[in-house]
Amino acid sequence: MQAFFCPDQLLHQPQQYMRIGRIHKPADLPARAEALQATLLAHGIPAHSPPEAGRAPLEAVHAPHYLDYLSAAYEGWQKLGRPGLEPGIEVLPNLSPYYGVAPGERRPPCPSPALLAQTGYYVGDLASPLGPHSWRSILRSAHTAHAAAMAVAGGERLAYALCRPSGHHAHHDRASGFCYVNNSAVAAEALREHFGKVAVLDVDAHHGDGTQNIFYASADVLTVSTHADPAGYFPFYTGYAHERGAGAGEGFNLNLPLAHGSGNAEFIAALDEAVAAIERFAPEALVLPMGFDTYRDDPISVLRLDFDAYRAVGERLRALALPTVIVQEGGYMVEALGPGLAALLAGLRP
Ligand SMILES: [Zn+2]
Repeated sequence: MQAFFCPDQLLHQPQQYMRIGRIHKPADLPARAEALQATLLAHGIPAHSPPEAGRAPLEAVHAPHYLDYLSAAYEGWQKLGRPGLEPGIEVLPNLSPYYGVAPGERRPPCPSPALLAQTGYYVGDLASPLGPHSWRSILRSAHTAHAAAMAVAGGERLAYALCRPSGHHAHHDRASGFCYVNNSAVAAEALREHFGKVAVLDVDAHHGDGTQNIFYASADVLTVSTHADPAGYFPFYTGYAHERGAGAGEGFNLNLPLAHGSGNAEFIAALDEAVAAIERFAPEALVLPMGFDTYRDDPISVLRLDFDAYRAVGERLRALALPTVIVQEGGYMVEALGPGLAALLAGLRP
């Protein structure tokens, strides 16, 4: 197994996170990536720094006007305001347009050139601030996913992308939920270009809404997500069982929501349903967006999984025997990340 990570991914240091009307300390700490990297090293798997790949792998799944915004927003933010009304330390929206687009439909560029308008248009919530070095970390996190996909396209059976910031809540043209560029979609698209049919199996605690959005009209990429019931949990608006894809992608999206409080047994039953759907689709490669925020003691968890569940994920991957890219998504109890990854690796071993 090859692993990828760039130290520049630690530069993104969000300072604030809105929860039920109060600004909290951020959940996406750089220490998360350091804990995962230490576990890789303990298993004799050094993480390689991914090659610089520019914007091309990102543009394969995101709107260029959105990437223009992300890359330039922080610098522009410094020029806002006036004496006595200085801008905040991070880029955050203070408005959000009402817009209605069908799943899979693409929005035009923001109609206003004003940075505040664009921030409302492109940043979907108050959990996704942009700081001075965020773009560099976002870009390198995407390169990490792309390098893992390229390794698998080159013949490696399994690659792990230690992505941070995470990506699966990033839509085609919108950041949200600590996510800016959809690393799992970057990997899936790179694999699709090489292999043809690709499945994405998202086992993070939250619905992979951005990945669903990006591939909703695609028949080449089957998107499957197990997650806590979104009726009472982020991302709230999507992740329901009736969302099955649109147009050519009709039938190529599967959501398996879990009741809050579900433990290993319920999760593994959903996992097996997901695996059966993937086997019917018969892909040539697999992307696994992996989240450890399903862990019972995770600070934002509503599920009650323990490490045996992650070992079961590894065992299912081994049985599927597909060229696979594992992409790191959530997990916010720093001390649980290493043991979680170790359990996944144990399941992958024959
Ligand atoms: Zn999550």
